[in-house]
Amino acid sequence: MNPKEKIMELVERLNHYSYEYHVMDNPSISDVEYDSLMRELEALEKQYPEYVLKNSPTQRVGDVVSEKLEKIIHEKPMLSLNNAFNKEELEDYHEKNVRTGLVFEYVCELKIDGISLALKYEDGFLVQAATRGNGEVGEDITANARNINSIPKVLKKRLNIEVRGEVYMRRDVFNRHNDLRTKAGEEPFKNPRNAAGGSLRQLDPTITAKRELDFFAYTIINPEQYGFISQYQILRFLEELGFEVNPNYTLCKQIEEVFDYLEYWQDFRQTLNYETDGVVIKVNNFEMQEEIGYTIKSPKWAIAYKFPAEEVETRLLDITFSVGRTGTINPNAVLEPVMIAGSLVQRATLNNEEFIKERDIRIGDYVVVRKAGEIIPEVVRVNFDRRKKTEVFRMIEECPACGSKIFRNENEAAYYCQNPDCEGIKLAGIIYFASSSGMDIEGLGEKVVDEFFRRGYLKSIADIYRLQEKKDELIQIEGMGEKSISNLLNAIEKSKDNPFSKVLTSLGIRLVGAKVSKTLSRYFSSFSELMKANLEDLTSIKDIGLVTATNIVNYFEKNSSLIQELKLLGIDPHEEKKEIKNVFSGKTFVLTGKLPTLTREEATRLIEENGGNTSSSVSKKTDYILAGEDAGSKLRKAQDLNIEIINEEDLRKLIGE
Ligand code: NAD
Repeated sequence: MNPKEKIMELVERLNHYSYEYHVMDNPSISDVEYDSLMRELEALEKQYPEYVLKNSPTQRVGDVVSEKLEKIIHEKPMLSLNNAFNKEELEDYHEKNVRTGLVFEYVCELKIDGISLALKYEDGFLVQAATRGNGEVGEDITANARNINSIPKVLKKRLNIEVRGEVYMRRDVFNRHNDLRTKAGEEPFKNPRNAAGGSLRQLDPTITAKRELDFFAYTIINPEQYGFISQYQILRFLEELGFEVNPNYTLCKQIEEVFDYLEYWQDFRQTLNYETDGVVIKVNNFEMQEEIGYTIKSPKWAIAYKFPAEEVETRLLDITFSVGRTGTINPNAVLEPVMIAGSLVQRATLNNEEFIKERDIRIGDYVVVRKAGEIIPEVVRVNFDRRKKTEVFRMIEECPACGSKIFRNENEAAYYCQNPDCEGIKLAGIIYFASSSGMDIEGLGEKVVDEFFRRGYLKSIADIYRLQEKKDELIQIEGMGEKSISNLLNAIEKSKDNPFSKVLTSLGIRLVGAKVSKTLSRYFSSFSELMKANLEDLTSIKDIGLVTATNIVNYFEKNSSLIQELKLLGIDPHEEKKEIKNVFSGKTFVLTGKLPTLTREEATRLIEENGGNTSSSVSKKTDYILAGEDAGSKLRKAQDLNIEIINEEDLRKLIGE
């Protein structure tokens, strides 16, 4: 793969993961894996700046904003933070600051692993709450925020002010909810951060209330209006207003004090009743902050030091294998139970054969296990000093579920079972289809699917829609009962109303997650239409790369009868298709200023739906400037270059609205 292709592939994958994480609150990889892919992309983009893509995750904050919730334009953007992953990177960061010639102090705060929130107060009363969203536009979750006890509804001072901070779920609350969810056959939350995100972005505020979220405030916007000159003062002031401020902040006059703080919290954080994934180090003085400045996605005056994932040693009792929904054969470590990052770990991933061989991991070894991003623990290395008599690992040759021979493609680390009738693949596919990432069928969690599968009620995803016929038998199963089966059957019936994009996601085609499905549904309104598309049709769509397109075409080639079966069972969703017009074919727009009714995202979508492109900088290649209120230097540059300047009304006229 050449660098350009590699960059494209990384952008495609990272955008997929970012959507799962930020929009669906349901990540499929750990933060450590995500961060290392991001680093790879950043390094490549630095080396080949000409290949930096507009939709690269290095160029933006967060992800798209959920369409389910109302939007709010932030008065000041809500940014991300740059990361330092070790002491050296932090020293480099400090060196750069020192080179500015400024002399300053840092405030260190724990980085709370939650969801950032902006709260607007008028005359001391809470009037609006918004998520970060894509940094410029967030989601309106005011009603939900009112159900969080630690968010004051009335301040101790009658001010007009915007306060920002982090919503999080305490560890005890997280464990309690997960116990209840597991008992009810629901999917447990993956980690407290995702639990907080999902609970905060609910359409029904009573659900948010039940999830018992908490809030730590850490900043206000326009602090100078209130006469403050430093972050330290703000933290004190927030306490006076009645907010909970994380008490563990400190002022450091020397970088050594920052290092001491990091070292202390690296170990001590496990004693806290909430998750922290690092420390945010902020230049204390606001004037100096402004002087140091910002990048497109983060302030340069702050950095997040990410704690290394916690590592613990334990014994590897066995290596077992499972089959994923795409047929991957996944080796898993069975461990002597051990506590890591506040939870009991008995299983860990071993990724693939190469991973095990490179590290010479053997059954019976003492291994170091890491829990990264609190998702799936991973075996990192062997403690060879404690090795006794062990045997070299040998990869299995047959699928653990169906016994057919497994294969490995060149350039790929994973082995696959290619038996289209493999029971293991079918089971994993049904679990995913019914899960919250898929059709979101309440009451049809992993355990229930497994039980029905073993009893022969579910042989394929289509059988889910035939369970109604077996109602009398299902009620007899121990632990089920009339009420839970009726609820389940209702939930299954309701899932037939899911839109096309959601059903498409549920099929579990590789790299076709919620975001790609949404994009596809703008071009194809039903399965019949999508199944007619070839590679060329698919790759001509922005954001659909060759790998994704090939997966789609191959999937439908193999599964046309399943789609037909689903249709006959009443699952044939049609989405209203937006016609893609070509009035702006080949034309490039630059957006500047605030438009009267459209957000930037909406304007970009309108332009793209009409065949145009958008770019962030003005050049001779720019065809139109779409300008709104407070347009700045871009407008001046456009005037110098004689580029046509239009407003929102002109744009609407051009597309014939
Ligand atoms: P981030 O979460 O690493 O850091 C920025 C955020 O820190 C801020 O927006 C703020 O909400 C929060 N924060 C917490 N305490 C704070 C404090 N005291 N002061 C200031 N801010 C504080 O960055 P991000 O842009 O939100 O997300 C990127 C990160 O998310 C990645 O580094 C990765 O770890 C993770 N991610 C994971 C996946 C995945 O699939 N696992 C996908 C996308 C992103």
